[in-house]
Amino acid sequence: MLTYPTQSSLTEEIIHNYKMNKTLDTAEICHLLSHKPKEEDQLLFTASRDVTTANVGEMVHLRAIIEFSNVCEADCLYCGIRKSNDNVERFTLPTEQIVQTAVEAMKQYPGVLLQSGEVQSQAFVNRLAEVVKQIKQLALTNSPLKENFRVILSVGELSQNQYKQLREAGADRYLLRIETTNERLFKNIHDRQSSMNERMTCLQNIKDLNMHVGTGVLIGIPGQNLFDLANDVKFFKKIGADMIGMGPLLPAKGTPIGDNYNAQQVLKDIHSENLFDTVKRMISVTRLMNPKANISATTAMEVLNPESGRVEAIQVGSNVVMPVMTPIGDKKKYYLYEGKSNVKSGLDVLKAQITQAGRKYDLTKPGDPVSWVERQK
Ligand code: SF4
Repeated sequence: MLTYPTQSSLTEEIIHNYKMNKTLDTAEICHLLSHKPKEEDQLLFTASRDVTTANVGEMVHLRAIIEFSNVCEADCLYCGIRKSNDNVERFTLPTEQIVQTAVEAMKQYPGVLLQSGEVQSQAFVNRLAEVVKQIKQLALTNSPLKENFRVILSVGELSQNQYKQLREAGADRYLLRIETTNERLFKNIHDRQSSMNERMTCLQNIKDLNMHVGTGVLIGIPGQNLFDLANDVKFFKKIGADMIGMGPLLPAKGTPIGDNYNAQQVLKDIHSENLFDTVKRMISVTRLMNPKANISATTAMEVLNPESGRVEAIQVGSNVVMPVMTPIGDKKKYYLYEGKSNVKSGLDVLKAQITQAGRKYDLTKPGDPVSWVERQK
């Protein structure tokens, strides 16, 4: 008599094969991402936690985020600070305030992420390069890490020469989310001439400059399925991403997607149950496929599950958290999605969450991605 593997044994078999071959094919990734009984998910989560410990260790790294401007020339359909969202009050911090906030950050944290909307003018890049230079200079006397204090940028798509200028000014890392590797979905959530291929070219340009390359995706895009997510995970591996950030798509008022957000439909589209669990599985599978990358526990996870969003992300494979140090008056104006500005991310809160997740923190080391460190050998 023919017997077929049960769901349980299929999950076990996939994890077993992964341990032998250190890779997963598309069908295996789809199965691991799919809705399963809790005990099967647990097999996946245990495997990804073990892979995290073995490859990047037990430390969770912290970097402060300074959101220095919510002015954006783009009009992404999901994003609360898209240029046509008139509900948002725009701000841009003066150079001195960005630098001063970074100096405060460097007394506690080993790196700072400067984030803004996308502005492609040369004047914007010149000013940002000046900010980066000043921060790196001041780190020599104000940060215990001195020249190892890291500056990370996330300001969107720029030209190769502009990335080069920022690298030469001292930027160490660059985050540019691909958002989705399905070209149709990419077009559905972006307004303009920008294409997925152009964004991929930007990522390659960043890599060619030997910056730490960060990317990531949105989970819960209307029409997205597990096959799309499996391709996203394979893309991270293909480009050798050093840093990966993934979060659920959360609605923002004043955006086409946010104003039509039907949470139930989005959940059905993805996998017929809780979006939070799908993101957790994505973190797990991404860790299996990218053992040496840094993977962040995003603020959006905490919004989706205020009880334990970050903790659970860390438990299944995330090893980076990012406290927000945007000046309090402007924090609410950096309105990417509903609920973001309410998330607590002070150092004490994060230390407690890391400990609760059974991990450790070390504020004395830059926490460079192991994947990047190994590329330098
Ligand atoms: S996602 Fe980025 S580029 Fe798009 S509108 Fe928002 S800030 Fe601008």
